[in-house]
Amino acid sequence: MYFESVRPRIPIVGEVPGSLTTPMTPDEFRRHGHALVDWVAEYLAHPERYAVLSRVEPGAITAALPAEAPDLGESFEALFADFERVLVPGLTHWNQPGFMAYFASTASAPGILAELLSAALNQQAMLWRTSPAATELESVTLGWLQRLLGLPDAFSGVIYDTASISTLHALACARERAVPGVRVEGLVGRALPRMRVYASAQAHSSVDKGVMLLGLGQNGLAHVPVDDAFCMRPDALRDAIARDRASGVQPLAVVATLGTTATTSVDPVAAIAEICDAEGLWLHVDAAYAGAAAMLPEQRAHFAGWERADSVVVNPHKWLFTPFDLSAFYTRHPALLRAAFSLVPDYLRTADTEQSRNLMDTGIQLGRRFRALKLWAVLRHFGADGLRDRLAGHIALAQMFADWIDATPGWTRVAPVPFSVVCFRATPADVPDDGLDAFNERIVEAVNATGEVFLSHTRLNGQTVIRLAIGHEGTTAAHVTRAWTLLRETAAGRGTT
Ligand code: PLP
Repeated sequence: MYFESVRPRIPIVGEVPGSLTTPMTPDEFRRHGHALVDWVAEYLAHPERYAVLSRVEPGAITAALPAEAPDLGESFEALFADFERVLVPGLTHWNQPGFMAYFASTASAPGILAELLSAALNQQAMLWRTSPAATELESVTLGWLQRLLGLPDAFSGVIYDTASISTLHALACARERAVPGVRVEGLVGRALPRMRVYASAQAHSSVDKGVMLLGLGQNGLAHVPVDDAFCMRPDALRDAIARDRASGVQPLAVVATLGTTATTSVDPVAAIAEICDAEGLWLHVDAAYAGAAAMLPEQRAHFAGWERADSVVVNPHKWLFTPFDLSAFYTRHPALLRAAFSLVPDYLRTADTEQSRNLMDTGIQLGRRFRALKLWAVLRHFGADGLRDRLAGHIALAQMFADWIDATPGWTRVAPVPFSVVCFRATPADVPDDGLDAFNERIVEAVNATGEVFLSHTRLNGQTVIRLAIGHEGTTAAHVTRAWTLLRETAAGRGTT
């Protein structure tokens, strides 16, 4: 029925004949679509065909592409041929089991299919009426996730693109609550004290960016010292707040991290929540990576106290098998979020019954795409048990790898492993201490150059450290074993394969 109504585009008077591409016909769409799905199925089935880390030189992709867009429309075949020839070699394969860098993640099959639907439907859920389905599915799906995570009903959720944006909105709420009139008067030219947000020295740089954007300045963020396990020290937080108050600085908010970026350390949220209560500070919990693990009963202890937060972020696009991008933001203060961001021009005003559901009022963005669809697809496809099973499997693989490190002379684990990331370094007796950083850097480079796995590095206590992060749905003991073999062979070959 729908296809029958599609007609070739009628040329506008004055347009050059032959310069127009007719719309892709339904039959062409079906043909290309089937071919594309076949390509994706092959891609997912045979990850070993691709080097995980792209091997192209900087600038090579740009040089291989025309400087200008084409004047005449081109066929989809031509486009796809260039995709394979030029772009595929320039892909680093985040969606492969050998990807163990940064935080490994998965675009799972149901998530990929839901993204296809989302693109086809082109929903824009700024108002409830511009997409009742996207608006309501967002709150239903986030409700499901919230209960799986064990967050109380007092929270309500909104989807943003990334954790950085979720954290920015959390800090905007904190500022809205603490600074009367900030929405109208701003911060400039007013007799206001310096304000401070507190996060551990291991917190993600998105907290820095948040305070920068909100006009608090980078000095408006205090990096609280951590203990030996890289967790925020509540005594140091208490001292920092007291020092600030004594010198006229106004404390605003604390960002506690459950699963820090470098080591996945777990800030003691319960103790931090006590301090925030006593001091009247907004508590935002950044569980962007590790939050998914709250679905596992045996992991819940790590999350003790997060239910007392004012806001929480969990990224299903990190460790919940959801294609980029989707960040779940929960707050106990949805009215405050709206107070900070709602701004309704006349042309977007709707009936009162709809107004409170309009997603455009919950953040800086007006337009919102249909992200909930892929999370819904993931939650339904795997089911809670399927998700728990995979998360527990990743944690077990990380534990297995950590045990190998602990049991092998010449290798040292440098942080606890609460979730699915292991931080370690090669420490052979015959490499002097001041040569270990370069030695470990060479190992990472050489292992990554094999194309079989991709590991990343970081610095801890002034030393270069290797990170192995497990988070892809397809990663098995065989992949982790192979990574370990490559690491040992490389180290034995003195840093080259
Ligand atoms: N918070 C933590 C703990 C992270 O590790 C990261 C990224 O790795 C972020 C926030 C930022 O995430 P996003 O890329 O979704 O902004």
